[in-house]
Amino acid sequence: TPVTIIITVIGVIAIVALVTVAVLQNRPLTQKYKYGIVLDAGSSHTALYIYQWPAEKDNNTGRVEQTHSCKVKGPGISSYASEPWKAGESLKDCIEDAKRRVPEKRHDETPLYLGATAGMRLLSIEDSSASNKVFQAVEQSLQKSPFSFQGARLLSGQEEGAFGWVTVNYLDDRLKQGLETTGALDLGGASTQISFVSNNYDGSESPKNSVTFRLYGNDYNLYTNSFLCYGKDQALRLTLAQQTQSGPRSILDPCFHPGYNETVTYSDLYDSPCVSDRKPQGAPVTFTHLGQGNSSQCQDVVKSIFNFTHCRYTQCSFNGVFQPLLQGPFGAFSAYYFVMNFLNLTDTSIPLEVVRKRLSIYCETPWDQIKQRHPDVKLKYLAEYCFSGTYILTLLTKGYNFTSESYPNIKFIKKIKGSDAGWTLGYMLNLTNMIPAEAPDSPLLPHS
Ligand code: AMP
Repeated sequence: TPVTIIITVIGVIAIVALVTVAVLQNRPLTQKYKYGIVLDAGSSHTALYIYQWPAEKDNNTGRVEQTHSCKVKGPGISSYASEPWKAGESLKDCIEDAKRRVPEKRHDETPLYLGATAGMRLLSIEDSSASNKVFQAVEQSLQKSPFSFQGARLLSGQEEGAFGWVTVNYLDDRLKQGLETTGALDLGGASTQISFVSNNYDGSESPKNSVTFRLYGNDYNLYTNSFLCYGKDQALRLTLAQQTQSGPRSILDPCFHPGYNETVTYSDLYDSPCVSDRKPQGAPVTFTHLGQGNSSQCQDVVKSIFNFTHCRYTQCSFNGVFQPLLQGPFGAFSAYYFVMNFLNLTDTSIPLEVVRKRLSIYCETPWDQIKQRHPDVKLKYLAEYCFSGTYILTLLTKGYNFTSESYPNIKFIKKIKGSDAGWTLGYMLNLTNMIPAEAPDSPLLPHS
């Protein structure tokens, strides 16, 4: 019949097109992929990332890419300390999603990792038995998945910083080519990391800040530091603790918009090892958190959470932590990006002075106007962008010593070539031995 003829013709055309594309791209007809899954259990939320790479080319740089991400509903796993089983339950939807996204015949060979960061670091300080129970609960849940579960563990701050650096440089294809590397700036809710290669720094001055890698035949001596309690949510607690030491009934906060008015309970604010030892005695149950919208005073309050008094090294960032001279370009991701993107300030060719001025105008805008302008933004985020923007600029310039001259070296980024910037890809590449220490044999090139 005419219908069968048409279907046959379409079929033949499709096959010819497929073969042509494959031949032109010089790759096998049916490209086989391998997959890997990493769960990033952060302080405020958990996210699942699926990576894929061509099956025959595990060792080729730049070939692993993120194909999908899934945001777990609800808070981070450390919030389930009093009902750990719910932490396991919370992951199920994203695991179901991953089952649909990874071809079924690959499920059992697909490694699945969970790495927890500063939210769980804080819980393990506060209540190590609760943190163990949360880990057990997520392990039990993930063991039931069809994937090859490789364990759930707490990453150290050094690992979190170093793997973020690996991710950025792997995606930029800088490692195999031995190019100058990009530093990594990561801002989470509970901790923040800085990692970069600095010439003339051999790591001996502060060994705990030094990580050495041999990747594709190149040696890297990486400086890295993670500041626990200096993620943006804990940093906000530090500034609120600073302002409530006398146990007042209300505070006029320069980092919140004029007209902002919320009731906060002392026990919630001080329920974190970052501030718990400073809870004022005899304070009332709650205080009223009022906004004032005063940028220069906000800068002063934020500055006061950094300690610059002691440094037993040649140079320090803050809190007595060694830091070598800043060097090279930097990528700033996670909350650095969310905040600066919201504030329309990701363009670092705008002079720092102008950035500060724009932020102060934003901070001084009344809360009602801000809410009207952004009806779709979550109120909790919206209320905090003035604080967060001020915190980011203070951390970069006062904390890490970026100047007006070096600020343009920073790029605020979310993704590189389709993959999210963050520690997860570097973590998986490391655990699957996908970055060789030595350069693979390259074909001999004729001498000219
Ligand atoms: P973590 O959960 O530790 O990875 O931290 C992520 C941080 O980014 C937390 O402080 C979150 O509140 C924050 N965050 C996530 N999404 C947004 C957003 N759209 N705007 C502002 N902050 C965000």
